[in-house]
Amino acid sequence: MNREIIKELMSSEGILPQSKFGQNFLCDEEIINSIVSLCDLKSEDHVLEIGPGLGSITYPISQLTDNLTCVEIDRGLAAYLTENLDGVRIVCADFLDVEDLGTFDVAVSNIPYYVMTDIMKKLFSDFSIVRKMVFMVEDEAIARIDCGPKTKQYGPLAILCSLYGTYKYEFKVPHTAFVPQPRTTSAVISFTRTDSADILSPDFVKFVNSCFAMRRKLLKKNLSNITSSEKLISAFEKLGIAETARAEELMPETFVQLYKTLNA
Ligand code: SAM
Repeated sequence: MNREIIKELMSSEGILPQSKFGQNFLCDEEIINSIVSLCDLKSEDHVLEIGPGLGSITYPISQLTDNLTCVEIDRGLAAYLTENLDGVRIVCADFLDVEDLGTFDVAVSNIPYYVMTDIMKKLFSDFSIVRKMVFMVEDEAIARIDCGPKTKQYGPLAILCSLYGTYKYEFKVPHTAFVPQPRTTSAVISFTRTDSADILSPDFVKFVNSCFAMRRKLLKKNLSNITSSEKLISAFEKLGIAETARAEELMPETFVQLYKTLNA
């Protein structure tokens, strides 16, 4: 899909991009092809796309697999895709609300930036079995994804990303690659699952969120709502965590140890 096709489609279908849904449609064929090839698809793969929009990534992926599910919040776009894409399952819903979608091998999304953190957290929580994830994100959001303890940006998102697997910054994407053009530069990133993702589950994600419930408070205070102080003191002692520790000081692996110890 190039700029002319997208503009023509928007005009013939009466589609006005909705900024409340972060609608910036990808119109650079080279970038689209690169995203598709990063997905490293096998024909039997079950693929999940979040926010297909007008189908810039959806069309080429549908040529490579018979098992593509797309979740689109915008009713007009979902109706357009349902009518024009054969053999693709289009679910019209807010991805944050969907349940029982099935299992997938690969997830891909030009992520609506306003809801990036929640979408990624849901993927790591409910779809952590996925082998490969490829995302377009706002370039400035990378600081929250690729960072370590004791930095301002370190939090649940960085911890889940790190536990899910190997992260790679693939390439920068200029704002001219979209219709309409966003104000910021974007980037394509990828994650390849490793065994450390085995711990990821809705319960574990809830636990990590609780650890950061009040960022400046001590970890033991944040966890006092979900476990007894005796249990906490003994787990801290066992794992060598200081009683005065804050969540932002712990390595991703320490959250795994603490979760396992508290649930033993
Ligand atoms: N994938 C298309 C592309 O690359 O041109 C569109 C990308 S656009 C940045 C984001 C898409 O996500 C839009 O189609 C928007 O309607 C959809 N979207 C926004 N919030 C969503 C949500 N919570 N659940 C599902 N889709 C959502």
